[in-house]
Amino acid sequence: MEKLVSLCKRRGFIFQSSEIYGGTGSVWDYGPLGVELKRNIKDRWWHAMVRARDDIEGLDAAILMHPRVWEASGHVAGFTDPLIDCRNCRKRFRADDPKIKGTPGGPDAQCPACGMKGTLSEPRMFNLMFKTFMGPVEDSAAVVYLRPETAQGIYVNFLNVQQSTRQKVPFGIAQIGKAFRNEITPGNFIFRTREFEQMEMQFFVDPDGDHMQWFEYWKARRMEWHRALGLTEGRLLFHQHTAEELAHYARAAFDIQFDFGGTLGFQEIEGVHHRGDFDLGRHQEFSGKKLEYFDQPNNRRYVPFVIETSVGADRTALAVLVNAYREEAVEGEAEGRTVLGLHPALAPIKAGVFPLVKKDGMPEFAEKLAHELRTRFPVFYDESGAIGRRYRRQDEVGTPFCVTVDGQTMADGTVTVRDRDTLAQARVAADRVGALIGERIGA
Ligand code: ATP
Repeated sequence: MEKLVSLCKRRGFIFQSSEIYGGTGSVWDYGPLGVELKRNIKDRWWHAMVRARDDIEGLDAAILMHPRVWEASGHVAGFTDPLIDCRNCRKRFRADDPKIKGTPGGPDAQCPACGMKGTLSEPRMFNLMFKTFMGPVEDSAAVVYLRPETAQGIYVNFLNVQQSTRQKVPFGIAQIGKAFRNEITPGNFIFRTREFEQMEMQFFVDPDGDHMQWFEYWKARRMEWHRALGLTEGRLLFHQHTAEELAHYARAAFDIQFDFGGTLGFQEIEGVHHRGDFDLGRHQEFSGKKLEYFDQPNNRRYVPFVIETSVGADRTALAVLVNAYREEAVEGEAEGRTVLGLHPALAPIKAGVFPLVKKDGMPEFAEKLAHELRTRFPVFYDESGAIGRRYRRQDEVGTPFCVTVDGQTMADGTVTVRDRDTLAQARVAADRVGALIGERIGA
């Protein structure tokens, strides 16, 4: 993880937020390459979940919502973690932290950070939602929350979307957006942060119909999606929520876990949950407005059940980076190379374009080629340093192809196209490079 964090900073994937001020705890900024990577992940999700289907509609609901939403959703009362403070070193711990010895609040309990005895407080409940004020007066009547998940924007718009699009159950609503959680034990780079992006889809189904089949359907689709990102088969698995983990209203819940390696191991990257009619039911109750679907052919009104798929864009980006990172020896060379073996569709830069040397018309030819290719996909032009170093620089950021203009190009108009993973070089007519790479990256 340390190597990855350092590469991400050095090459402009991810920076610590407000770094010049000493950084903000567990908040990260995406640099020029990181924003492309994350956007490619989000685009693939949006394409698979919204554009390629006729039974899911897109939505972009606001971050700030009516405060009653969070009472209905259960977040005001229930979105809490028990916390313990040390009066001596002022560090905070989750009550379930296995490093705490003894009973917090008592004289024998020992602080895992400073080692003092008897300084740990009893557990206190701590709400994970960020609070702020709406309007000019900072009083309790003006409290609003930064949303801790995007799903509630979907529930409160259920009928707006259904009626405006005339969708029939079963159908879904999908959204990508920021969520905020004042996590107590954030960390592990972008694994658990206080500001993050979620990609969520709520699928509305008939409670008297085959809802368990839909649950199985979505479990399978979502696992396929992660595999198609290039995540290694053996690093993905389903974790079924145990009786203790399962929310009281949930009928079934599975997490898709990815093996991050090191001390993290297998961790959740996505949740697929059968939420019954809990959410729409609660919003009906708290708003006093009916959220029923009218099944015209059968003249029935009902509150649909919901199958939810909820995945973090940042956590997926981390899984993709961890999965892609490798260091390897190169035959015939003393120095090895660091490679991000990213799926070509996710790679921030699709091709590096280089003149072999800075003379004989090669830079002009290469610049013109780079300019043409750039109309189709992101390209990086580089003429500085030895060619081997230029290849290494692209390997390290996951660029799947490098195109080199050399002496032969000037004679017959062909260039070499080098494959990041096999290192094989093929000679291709310069005017065919765009089509060739386009095909390989699915553009
Ligand atoms: P965890 O137990 O890891 O905190 P959760 O069960 O609270 O996660 P959900 O509420 O189900 O997570 O959120 C769905 C997805 O959103 C998670 O699978 C994860 O990818 C992402 N996510 C949740 N919290 C964070 C966070 N603090 N930072 C980054 N991503 C997050």
